Amino acid sequence: MINLFKKKDKATDPVCLMKVEKGEKAITYNYKEETYYFCSENCKEQFKKDPEQFLS
Ligand SMILES: [Zn+2]
Repeated sequence: MINLFKKKDKATDPVCLMKVEKGEKAITYNYKEETYYFCSENCKEQFKKDPEQFLS
């Protein structure tokens, strides 16, 4: 159960593919009803410019 919980707490930054901790401090962006997590505002800005580039 603890392992499952840990997995749920991590997401992958679609821009640089880094593992990102989910939580209050996480940098997130909602796109097409999905929440994406980023390691930095810089990655988020890149994603916002052209989301499809990172999702294909
Ligand atoms: Zn990143």
